[in-house]
Amino acid sequence: MTGSSASRAERIAALGYDYASQPKDAVTACNLCGASTFVILTHRDRYGYPAEAHACTRCGLVFLNPRMTADAYGRFYDGVYRPLVSAFHGRLIDARTIQAEQREYAAERAAFIQPFVAGRAFRSMLDIGGSTGVVAHHFAREFGLQGTLIDPAPLEVEEARHFGLETITGLVERHDFGGRRFDAVIVCQTVDHLLDVRGTLARVRQLLTEDGILLVDIVDFRAAYLRHRSVDAAVKIDHPYYLTEATMSAYLAATGFDIARADYAADRLHVGYVCRPAAPRPDALPAPASAMEMLREIRYVQNAPQP
Ligand SMILES: [Zn+2]
Repeated sequence: MTGSSASRAERIAALGYDYASQPKDAVTACNLCGASTFVILTHRDRYGYPAEAHACTRCGLVFLNPRMTADAYGRFYDGVYRPLVSAFHGRLIDARTIQAEQREYAAERAAFIQPFVAGRAFRSMLDIGGSTGVVAHHFAREFGLQGTLIDPAPLEVEEARHFGLETITGLVERHDFGGRRFDAVIVCQTVDHLLDVRGTLARVRQLLTEDGILLVDIVDFRAAYLRHRSVDAAVKIDHPYYLTEATMSAYLAATGFDIARADYAADRLHVGYVCRPAAPRPDALPAPASAMEMLREIRYVQNAPQP
């Protein structure tokens, strides 16, 4: 199979996924700052589906609006998600094939957090949205931790169970952990997929021991549109949120985390953060000029001649 744009469109069309008719909710308040003044940035996503990405003009948070309901996303992940990504890239991507690329990613992330785990008496780790468990398994072995993984996709959790991890099929926002706390919580390649970033990070804060660490990463939206020289190409229905260094830093401060170290990943697309618990600063916002700077940059990327 080739990656040509004509055959890509045909492959996606062949899936017969009707995004337009999926049930959706309108987003009326910014998930980060609560404001309600938005600018519509794009009208089609990278697959060609009619999805609008909006930006909050106050804080610069970018998100799909309207956005599929939780049930519609559940069906999306159970059914069309991996076939759609496979159709887009023109090669098979499923719970098994992603393990190879996950291994490389796991080794890189482990090196990143190693200085913050070495010499500590950490015992437990929770991987939120851990997929097939490659990353959790690597971390558990590398750092001698008891690994627990929670993910909503049953097939991927089944793969994770083979690694000997404790597995939970579900959503962290809804699962009752009782009084359990974890020394390390990892949220890798997951935060952009959440429906409520602020609520989930606040929940994560409660699940962390007082001297524990959080590892979280984002697809940096600015890196994505600069790389593609296209804003539409950086938007996809699988990601309700499009975070930047400015908005993610504000989210972390608001929900009670100090950033100990940030990392521009080797793929130049992700930004990783090692964080420690801190007092939440609920009113934390990006610098006042950052939203306007991003909007200006987006207009440039949308209209500057291709080099
Ligand atoms: Zn906002």
